[in-house]
Amino acid sequence: MSTLAIAAEVRAKLDALRNTLARAITRNADVCLTCSFQAEDVLLARLAIERDPSIPILFLDTGYHFAETYAYRDQIAQQWNLNLINLLPEKTVAEQESEFGILYQSAPDRCCALRKVEPLFKALAQYRVWLTGLRREQARSRAALEESAAFALPGGKQILKLAPLAAWTTRDVWYACEELAIPLLPLYARGYSSIGCEPCTSLPLDPNDPRSGRWAGRKVECGIHIQAASQQASKPAS
Ligand code: SF4
Repeated sequence: MSTLAIAAEVRAKLDALRNTLARAITRNADVCLTCSFQAEDVLLARLAIERDPSIPILFLDTGYHFAETYAYRDQIAQQWNLNLINLLPEKTVAEQESEFGILYQSAPDRCCALRKVEPLFKALAQYRVWLTGLRREQARSRAALEESAAFALPGGKQILKLAPLAAWTTRDVWYACEELAIPLLPLYARGYSSIGCEPCTSLPLDPNDPRSGRWAGRKVECGIHIQAASQQASKPAS
């Protein structure tokens, strides 16, 4: 496919995405967007604030992110005047390490539960719609990702989880970011293809698997989206 054809295809996808967001982000809709400040999340945030500049942007502030991620988060939040909400775990890194040791080495599932899953699910209870930048191409564990699905929180509340980029390719995301002049997290330029907490992120071990640098192959998801799959109800919430 020629560069011009790709650009035209991505522009059409951007139009469709704007239409999806216009339907999802309506007055009093209680919509939030989770943002790791990876490319697809930042793209989604950029388009979401076109629709509602005050949409809550939830960042899972585990305390273990790269310094570059924190700096980039702050840069984008300031430049775009984001309504950024940093979700903090109950314990600081120092408190957790003092009490339980280095959980990302000994029990990464528990570490993710304490620093990502619990704070996120607690925050999501305030909303009816959860926008995510998840894509099917990111990992085999996301191959069956639905663009719209009901999601049951641990307390029983059902919200609507939307993944409007589900069918987008990495190429689409990169073209769209270029088209919209979105600066990307500098760690991509150092070869990272999927970026989470620093202790659990390395350069990809398999060039054909963008998430192969996460958790050094010990696991593939932090738990948020695995739990979503098992808790998804059959019908979307209205
Ligand atoms: S990604 Fe690693 S450091 Fe971050 S919460 Fe999970 S186990 Fe802990």
